[in-house]
Amino acid sequence: MKKQDVLKKGKAKTVYSTDDADKLILHFRNDTSAFDGEKIEQLARKGMVNNRFNAFIMQTLEKAGIPTQFEKLLSDDEVLVKKLDMIPVECVVRNIAAGSIVRRLGVKDGMELNPPTFEFFLKNDALHDPMINEYHIRSFNWATDAEVVRMKELTFRINDILSKLFKDAGLLLVDYKLEFGRYRGEIILGDEFSPDGCRLWDARSREKLDKDRFRQGLGGVVEAYEEVARRLGIDLA
Ligand code: ADP
Ligand code: UDP
Repeated sequence: MKKQDVLKKGKAKTVYSTDDADKLILHFRNDTSAFDGEKIEQLARKGMVNNRFNAFIMQTLEKAGIPTQFEKLLSDDEVLVKKLDMIPVECVVRNIAAGSIVRRLGVKDGMELNPPTFEFFLKNDALHDPMINEYHIRSFNWATDAEVVRMKELTFRINDILSKLFKDAGLLLVDYKLEFGRYRGEIILGDEFSPDGCRLWDARSREKLDKDRFRQGLGGVVEAYEEVARRLGIDLA
């Protein structure tokens, strides 16, 4: 598979076209950003860790019947994926209150959410990814009602699969963000699943093992991601 042009340089990944019109290469860079790109740093090994982490999670989800973009790992920091027509919304599920919901609703940090809650955000850094609802998605034609139903269904199924996976590794899946796209008439999981886009706490100590370490300047960011990978049995080479 030949890498061709840069289609997009995002905050953490670069997207390349390939000689197959249906496939893209995602290059996971070491760039780490927070606060809609206001804080940016290079963290050694992060691209490799997230690429391998994401590949493991996507393959686990495929095995459990979730349609994903994943085709194959190409190198330490590159993966071949299906080229999706991305839907510009972020799907967030929360099992425990943390981050923006605590600030917005004044609820207690660390409070268990039973049932888990669901939020949509518009993918737009300039507007700071505002929270939106299903009516916005419909009125502005970001997705159809059927696509909204499917994204929610897949996001909750993924919660069941991954909450158990992390629980068995002594971790709490606090919340996470997913992005979906269209491929041959189907809704498929795109982008990535890594500690950059979710919150993971040690089940006993509640120590943060995700991107909050970077947001809050706690240090040991990539080391924490590697610890999670180790507990899941992911080979980081
Ligand atoms: P951001 O867009 O937040 O800066 P990234 O650096 O991760 O994030 O950029 C990756 C870009 O590639 C995003 O715009 C994402 O929506 C897009 N993307 C991810 N997976 C796919 C895919 N399978 N097909 C097409 N576009 C994708
Ligand atoms: N998230 C993300 N990208 C975004 C916004 C959020 O990956 O642009 C993830 C974030 O890492 C967390 C979850 O989505 O796991 C919920 O994020 P929240 O709304 O609490 O925002 P935050 O306070 O993290 O900015």
